[in-house]
Amino acid sequence: MGEAALKHAEETWVYAFGGGTADGDASMKNLLGGKGANLAEMAKLGLPVPPGFTISTAVCTAYYELEREYPSTLAPQVDQALADLEKKSGKGFGDPENPLLVSVRSGARASMPGMMDTVLNLGLNEASAAGLAKKAGERFAYDSYRRFIQMYSNVVLGISHDEFEHLLDEYKDRQGIDLDTDMSADDWKKIIVLYKEAVEKELGKPFPEDPKEQLWGAISAVFGSWMNDRAITYRKLNDIPAEWGTAVNVQAMVFGNLGETSATGVAFTRDPSNGDPIFYGEYLINAQGEDVVAGIRTPAPISRERADTLGSEDAPLEEAMPEVYAQLRDVANTLERHYKDMQDLEFTVEDGNLYMLQTRSGKRTASAALKIAVDMAREGLITENEAVLRLMPAQLDQLLHPTISEDAARDVLVVGLPASPGAAVGKVVFDSDEAFQWAEKGEDVILVRVETSPEDIKGMHAARGIVTARGGMTSHAAVVARGMGRPCVCGAGGLQVDGKAGVFRVMGREVKKGEVITVDGATGQVMLGAVDMVQPDLSGDFGTLMAWADAARRLKVRANAETPLDTQTAVEFGAEGIGLCRTEHMFFDEARIPEVRAMILSNDVAGRRASLDKLLPMQRGDFEEIFRILEDRPATIRLLDPPLHEFLPHTDEDMEDVAKASGVSVAELKRRADDLHESNPMLGHRGCRLGITYPEIYEMQARAIFEAAVNIANETGRKPVPEVMIPLVATHRELQILKDVVDAQAKAVFEETGVTLDYLVGTMIELPRAALRAGDIAQSAAFFSFGTNDLTQTTLGISRDDAGRFLKVYEDKGIYEKDPFVTLDQEGVGELVKTAAERGRNTRPGIKLGICGEHGGDPASVAFCHRTGLDYVSCSPYRVPIARLAAAHAALSESDS
Ligand code: PEP
Ligand code: MG
Repeated sequence: MGEAALKHAEETWVYAFGGGTADGDASMKNLLGGKGANLAEMAKLGLPVPPGFTISTAVCTAYYELEREYPSTLAPQVDQALADLEKKSGKGFGDPENPLLVSVRSGARASMPGMMDTVLNLGLNEASAAGLAKKAGERFAYDSYRRFIQMYSNVVLGISHDEFEHLLDEYKDRQGIDLDTDMSADDWKKIIVLYKEAVEKELGKPFPEDPKEQLWGAISAVFGSWMNDRAITYRKLNDIPAEWGTAVNVQAMVFGNLGETSATGVAFTRDPSNGDPIFYGEYLINAQGEDVVAGIRTPAPISRERADTLGSEDAPLEEAMPEVYAQLRDVANTLERHYKDMQDLEFTVEDGNLYMLQTRSGKRTASAALKIAVDMAREGLITENEAVLRLMPAQLDQLLHPTISEDAARDVLVVGLPASPGAAVGKVVFDSDEAFQWAEKGEDVILVRVETSPEDIKGMHAARGIVTARGGMTSHAAVVARGMGRPCVCGAGGLQVDGKAGVFRVMGREVKKGEVITVDGATGQVMLGAVDMVQPDLSGDFGTLMAWADAARRLKVRANAETPLDTQTAVEFGAEGIGLCRTEHMFFDEARIPEVRAMILSNDVAGRRASLDKLLPMQRGDFEEIFRILEDRPATIRLLDPPLHEFLPHTDEDMEDVAKASGVSVAELKRRADDLHESNPMLGHRGCRLGITYPEIYEMQARAIFEAAVNIANETGRKPVPEVMIPLVATHRELQILKDVVDAQAKAVFEETGVTLDYLVGTMIELPRAALRAGDIAQSAAFFSFGTNDLTQTTLGISRDDAGRFLKVYEDKGIYEKDPFVTLDQEGVGELVKTAAERGRNTRPGIKLGICGEHGGDPASVAFCHRTGLDYVSCSPYRVPIARLAAAHAALSESDS
């Protein structure tokens, strides 16, 4: 025996179910696949399941290990299972009197809808078709037989459907028959002859008559379909490993198409679109499962209640088959109680008898998931913690933004990347200033640009939604839009933006400035006209579930915010403070940028101070507003970080304006801009290094912070908590120098005002060197905040590409496939965070640790931060609830294991 064969000698490959018992159960999904495990579970519960058996996923794995051969011990187990199945069903495989027909279906651990193969009505041949005819009528029997030949030939023998359709069409033409339903039993018999001739001609051998041969052919086809292109692609897209394999389910056929007392349908134990606790579903009389899915006939609602809601004239199952309906409701209740989750059921009624063909957790929208989780906890079916775990953090995104109503008509112009969720309607504007002006006048606008840059911030903020022709999921537009909670579609390929002419063109269509479009950031669609929308509801079930999540989490959640509006939004979304206030955003304001530029362009300290004196009250005003909203919550305020060239003009036109205003020549201005320029990743003369060469900038900012804190303390009686953060530190010395600058300002302000407040000085860890030197740096840092945006770029040693992806050059090699994110538990960045946290704590045991890069709103990275023992994560306001839920999930999954 070969090694593989030896390994398999003792193994159980086949698991029977039906007749009130089963070899498997719901816990065996890995081995039996989702469908097989749940069929076994239903059989064990005594529910009416047609008997059958599951060939395990281990066979699939062995089949590929043995280069598409089966382990020798499989065939005897299948024979045994088949014999048992004959006994349970009281029918014989290939029996000319009372034939057993089976379905052969795939069933993997994770659902892969429609990706793999299925064969129905297997076991039919000349003799058994005659047997079926005696029991169920000739027309039904021969129609079934020809369907089987067609399906089997296609799935197992690889002959195209079209060939058979063509033969059928020709026959109908010759006979003057229009519809399949007009075909008689004799017509079908003749078609069967034609079909079989075609198969023999194509393959050089006849269509298999032996049911066993048919069965093995179908089993191999299903295992083979695990490796078809469709399935491989689906697995790749959904992160399903090839090693999982599929199971094969062989099950006695039941027929929903035996006449008016038969039917087939699907049902959900609750409404999957809004979560209402109503019995939901549809069915067709005298039909097979495929007919419901195919959409040729329109199914009728299952209950009177649904029929009334939909205004359906068709008789619901509740009235057409009241006993079956009552039984189905009982089964549905049993299953929902048993699985403690909303179930998606498939059933067939054969001659008045109900059979369950499948049950599984039903797919649902985010709002349904929320309602079902909260309702089930209230009903006592699950605990509050279980309810928290039922809602995926990523799903929350859908709940926090207005969305397009499900049945709205959409005239789609173009589909780009779904860069920032939510939907927005507004008039097309191509220029950021114009967007701002129109918004001031009360217009809803959508900003459409080739791409965006920091100068567009104001226009982006003023716009309801943003569309760009270029850029990926982490392009400027995408990151900023997500941060602001503006719906955004990026990289809409084929979109030609001609801002000057005031039009964009796409697919031969033209949209002018001022025309109304709708942006759906969840799907990436850009649509013409105003599409109907639904507003989010943050109270009710949402509030309830979030309160449960808050009770379960350990990590605190803060927000990255620098405007009063963002701060307000953050607090409303449950932020426990600000984790990053990027002060440079305050410098971009139209009223201030001239003074900022004058400061940069002045040649001496005195000139800079003069400009800074004018900026001080503005900056103080910003901080006052923020402290007022935050009340006693802490605010981490970062002193100026970006290289100064970012504040200088970029276009020739702007250059001229600025040169005139600052009294320097355009040539001089260009030279200075070049001097100051840093490329991405931006290192060099920025962050703390800027603070060291121009300490007066940080002095002004620190003073503004402390004066604001004191003023608000005096005004409100509360105690603002400033946490002053020095960016881009690489060594302890840098921090020491700047901490002294900040402390001196605090001391001065407290002395001048006679009010003393607690405050902290700390730093960002966003360079590998800082992470490694964290032990020293902690001597002067009361807190660390991990800036994982820069830390990722500097750790990977390469910036993002134009589309915002890391390491595009390596993508073809399968490295960093995930766009756009490298989560923290991937090697490298996370390791540095961990190292720095440990070293920081060694020096200063109580050091406060947080994270403020984009990872702070990424659920997998939040889980990492929980495991690493950080104190808080900080993310954009709209992601605060996502981070709160992710933090709860992290805490709850830890206590599970
Ligand atoms: C970071 O680098 O992670 C960070 C938060 O700073 P910024 O994104 O402003 O560079
Ligand atoms: Mg940074």
